[in-house]
Amino acid sequence: MDQIHGLDELSRRVLDKGLCASCGSCVGRCPYVTEFKGRTVVLHRCTVEHGRCFAYCPMTFFDPEAASRMVFGTRAEASGIGRYEDVKASRATDETVAEAAQGGGTVTSLLIAALNSGMIDSAVLTSSIPGEARGRGFVGTTVAEIASCSGSKFAGSHSLSVLREALDQGRSRIGVVALPCQVRSLRKMALYDLKQEKLRERVPLVIGLFCNWAFSPRQFAEFLGKELGLGHIGKIDIPPPPAQVLEVETQGRTVSVPLDLVRPMIQDACRVCPDMTAEFADVSVGMYEGRPGWNTLVVRTAAGAGVVGEALAAAGLETDVFPSENLEHLKEASEQKRTRAAQ
Ligand SMILES: Cc1cc2nc3c(=O)[nH]c(=O)nc-3n(C[C@H](O)[C@H](O)[C@H](O)COP(=O)(O)OP(=O)(O)OC[C@H]3O[C@@H](n4cnc5c(N)ncnc54)[C@H](O)[C@@H]3O)c2cc1C
Ligand code: SF4
Ligand code: SF4
Repeated sequence: MDQIHGLDELSRRVLDKGLCASCGSCVGRCPYVTEFKGRTVVLHRCTVEHGRCFAYCPMTFFDPEAASRMVFGTRAEASGIGRYEDVKASRATDETVAEAAQGGGTVTSLLIAALNSGMIDSAVLTSSIPGEARGRGFVGTTVAEIASCSGSKFAGSHSLSVLREALDQGRSRIGVVALPCQVRSLRKMALYDLKQEKLRERVPLVIGLFCNWAFSPRQFAEFLGKELGLGHIGKIDIPPPPAQVLEVETQGRTVSVPLDLVRPMIQDACRVCPDMTAEFADVSVGMYEGRPGWNTLVVRTAAGAGVVGEALAAAGLETDVFPSENLEHLKEASEQKRTRAAQ
């Protein structure tokens, strides 16, 4: 308990320093914290000494050894892409899923398989806010709802705030799609579980996304709207290097925005974030550089292997070999992020 403080300390250490990652964890846990137009805002002072807001925030503290023992049953692997069992290339076999997806539709396929097999009864996702560049949390309970959340929203979404909604609905097998910072928050919830909500059992599947950075939701929305005059934002894509652009679908056309123009809008939290591949997830999914329409799939735990097995058995997913030179490149990139964060 020594390291767990309250809302004042969360403000001092995270919010006042501009280090909020917009994960949404504190928003769903405390009535005095809310999200307003993409910002995390404290509405009122709170005197609780050991609050869930502080305990579950990924930016206050994180104990990789404790998380590793809980998730993998062994010591943390503080290099490369963390602990894993297998790495594959993968993609959805369903054309509709693949078409709507950001990469190969692996995440959506895994979720559908998990729901259909009964492994999960609901999923905490990030849905689009119509016309806007940022997303928001959404609890999906049907295949159609899961499919409607396909695609990446490249700004922080506070999506973990709706975990509260799923818990209040009495959901007992909640799957979560999470950025690496959100995975850390979920693992802290399971480790400390201050209100005995049985979070370890009730969140049996965490699908992590690779992530190098995310935009500050408010700044990014204002930049696209006010500075570039873009409205009705659709899909956003970041083609692999050397493109160095953001491709934004808007009103029937695609606009290329140089990455240099938008880099200043990256959240400060991302500059000190060490985790690129969601090292504490059950399964992690990223793009497959050089093979459009495919994903990189990292299987880390028995639950991760289980959901991949379900998706393969249901013929919703196909996998292929992930070449060793690509794996080495991925480990290097992941290591670079860890090193940058430590500087
Ligand atoms: C902010 C951000 C940065 C990323 N950076 C990288 C990167 O540097 N390198 C890389 O290889 N991949 C990165 N990704 C992951 C990549 O964009 C794809 O999400 C991933 O490859 C899975 O593709 P898919 O086709 O299987 O996903 P889909 O089947 O299209 O499913 C996407 C899932 O992502 C969830 N989601 C969307 N936006 C968010 C969000 N903001 N926060 C949390 N969940 C969300 C949705 O709920 C949905 O379930 C990033 C994703 C995000 C959101
Ligand atoms: S990172 Fe998450 S938990 Fe921490 S202050 Fe921001 S929204 Fe709240
Ligand atoms: S870089 Fe880290 S802190 Fe930033 S959005 Fe990605 S996982 Fe979260």
